[in-house]
Amino acid sequence: MKKNIFANNINLSNYTTIKVGGVTEYFAKPSNLKEFNNLIEWSHINNQKCRIIGAGSNLLINNIFLKGLIICTKKMRSVTIDINSGIVEAEAGLMLPTLSNLLAKNGLQGGEWAVGIPGTLGGAIYMNAGSGNFSIADNLISVTVINTKTLKRIEIEKREINFKYRFSPFQDNDLLIISAKLHFEPKGNIEKLIQITKNNLKLKTEIQPYHLPSFGSVFKNPENNYAAKLIDEMGLKGFKIGGAEISTMHANFIVNSSSASSKDIFDLITVIQQKVLQNKGISLQPEVRMIGFDYPN
Ligand SMILES: Cc1cc2nc3c(=O)[nH]c(=O)nc-3n(C[C@H](O)[C@H](O)[C@H](O)COP(=O)(O)OP(=O)(O)OC[C@H]3O[C@@H](n4cnc5c(N)ncnc54)[C@H](O)[C@@H]3O)c2cc1C
Repeated sequence: MKKNIFANNINLSNYTTIKVGGVTEYFAKPSNLKEFNNLIEWSHINNQKCRIIGAGSNLLINNIFLKGLIICTKKMRSVTIDINSGIVEAEAGLMLPTLSNLLAKNGLQGGEWAVGIPGTLGGAIYMNAGSGNFSIADNLISVTVINTKTLKRIEIEKREINFKYRFSPFQDNDLLIISAKLHFEPKGNIEKLIQITKNNLKLKTEIQPYHLPSFGSVFKNPENNYAAKLIDEMGLKGFKIGGAEISTMHANFIVNSSSASSKDIFDLITVIQQKVLQNKGISLQPEVRMIGFDYPN
């Protein structure tokens, strides 16, 4: 494998949207599938732990030294669109806002909601990211993955994947998402789609703190309830631990308002959980994924 594909001792705070993170022993940002496969093979042969990240927009990484390899998919972003059938094939690192804008420009309907989600397609499938009643699973045809244990590559049909609210089985298995096939409604009104997409982004930035580092919603909404409403009712908006603050704009966002540490953020998550449990009897489950913490996710 080309030596320069690796970097050593990289600070991951530059690779998360909340701007905290530890230092990884090995780091790589492959540009294509061949490089990606080589990296997986390398970690397998050398018995190195291999983790994957996309845009780091749903990640809390502890400020510790992480042994092994972190692969960031952001450079694997090739995409093809068939404007007649509405079929889109894209690599895992394609950003959702790029996808949304591309769909609108090509008259494909159904991806307008995703414009305000600053993550990759792979991360979105792993999380089953969504907005309102929409989620990425709705448009999936199939997902191509690589098994880190067997190194086998397989294409899995959507009907074989048990997606739930902010959950995919990829959270519980050894499969890494390398690309996906999706379907959107073709031959839509391009101007209208561009307008709806623009409006959706505007709406999101008006109600969520896009101007500060965050990782989006911290907790999943409990059944028939809203995490933001529960946190707000505790009077916690603006509550801080160190540089981590519960957004005054949206109670289910933690923002890094002034050089927060990963511990500040983790502690704030714990305080919110304790308060909501004590006062409302509801156990909030983090939506955000954690690396390097002793947390069962
Ligand atoms: C301002 C803001 C607004 C947001 N709004 C929304 C929203 O409206 N709806 C919503 O659902 N989310 C939202 N999010 C959260 C986040 O953007 C999504 O969860 C997104 O899908 C995460 O993608 P990512 O590439 O950043 O994943 P990362 O944060 O890099 O990773 C998240 C998890 O996915 C895994 N993963 C990433 N790529 C792969 C892959 N190729 N194969 C296997 N596993 C992988 C990682 O290991 C990690 O466990 C928001 C975040 C921010 C900062």
